[in-house]
Amino acid sequence: MSSVALILKEERLDKESLVELLNSKQTDLILNKAAQIKAKYIGNKVHLRGLIELSNRCNKNCYYCGIRAANKNVKRFMLSDEEVDRAIRFAVANNLGSIVIQSGELQSEEFTEGISHVLQRIEHIGEGTLGVTLSCGEQTKEVYQQWKDAGAIRYLLRIEASGKNLYQKLHPNNSKHSYEKRLQALHDLKQCGYQTGTGVMIGAPFQTLENLADDLLFMRDLDIDMCGMGPYIEHVDTLFYQYHESLPSKKQRLDWTLKMIAILRIMMKDINIASTTAMQSLVNGGREMALHAGANVLMPNITPGIYRELYSLYENKPGINEEASDSKLSIENIVQRAGGKVAYNEQGNSRHFTKRN
Ligand code: SAH
Ligand code: SF4
Repeated sequence: MSSVALILKEERLDKESLVELLNSKQTDLILNKAAQIKAKYIGNKVHLRGLIELSNRCNKNCYYCGIRAANKNVKRFMLSDEEVDRAIRFAVANNLGSIVIQSGELQSEEFTEGISHVLQRIEHIGEGTLGVTLSCGEQTKEVYQQWKDAGAIRYLLRIEASGKNLYQKLHPNNSKHSYEKRLQALHDLKQCGYQTGTGVMIGAPFQTLENLADDLLFMRDLDIDMCGMGPYIEHVDTLFYQYHESLPSKKQRLDWTLKMIAILRIMMKDINIASTTAMQSLVNGGREMALHAGANVLMPNITPGIYRELYSLYENKPGINEEASDSKLSIENIVQRAGGKVAYNEQGNSRHFTKRN
């Protein structure tokens, strides 16, 4: 039996073994093990989240991100009330069951109230049936609590890098981008009672396989309920574009991302893992590969078409020119190709969270 096969058989998931798995050429063995675990603990249902990219206004300057504050080449937008309502109705009409509200990070009363208002609209239009995930960055515990009280049940805040050293290489060195605040925010989210999700980009500049192994252990130790991980993708208007020629190849980033998803599924059997949009930007068919590797959540983009191009975190986001890039048919095709079944009209809450409570 190969060393990788033995690690998988014994589920020996210490740091050294994790690095060995990430480094191994036996990707299929790892993905097959994850598929077995997913079948046993999750089943073949895939839950949907209609993704609304609410605004690209952001107060931060993360070195990797195309909508960072200092990028003067982006036109800034915020969806109008009517546009938000239309997107929510689209989610209802298409039986999506859940919505994700994602946005650049702003800390202001106006922004806080704006999100609360959107939550009320979701509650009203969805007649209380829709599950809501927020992904609106770092906020105070009071703000997190206010949004929770207004109806949000899940929150996604990626740690981006679980080690302080790498975190500081990915972000400017100032109090707006503090590693400690990031950690505190994740703890606050858990305390407020959210299904709490985190994750990292994979294949970012300066990142090593040791970092990725630490990220997996971090997620296990934080006892997260959900995870969103995807490949790092270059964007021309970022500081990190200077490294675009020395990045790991797309093939390599794809392989590492699939392995990260699969290993996390083996480590945390009953959490929700998203198959992210960035997978699709990296390679055609990327999202079904992620489902095959252990993910169980898909996030069709329901942002009005005219804004998709402006919410450009990285290059080549799929479907930015189409009004309904993720039609019902294309979602069903993705899920079917990965051997799954779409769970319509279900919130698809994290089983891990339910058990933990
Ligand atoms: N402002 C919020 C949510 C929007 S950004 C936040 O930062 O949490 C959502 C995610 O996009 C980030 O967590 C980051 O991991 C990812 N992202 C940003 N730039 C990216 C890039 N160049 N490649 C891949 N993912 C990127
Ligand atoms: Fe803003 Fe989020 Fe992009 Fe950072 S990753 S610049 S917080 S949108």
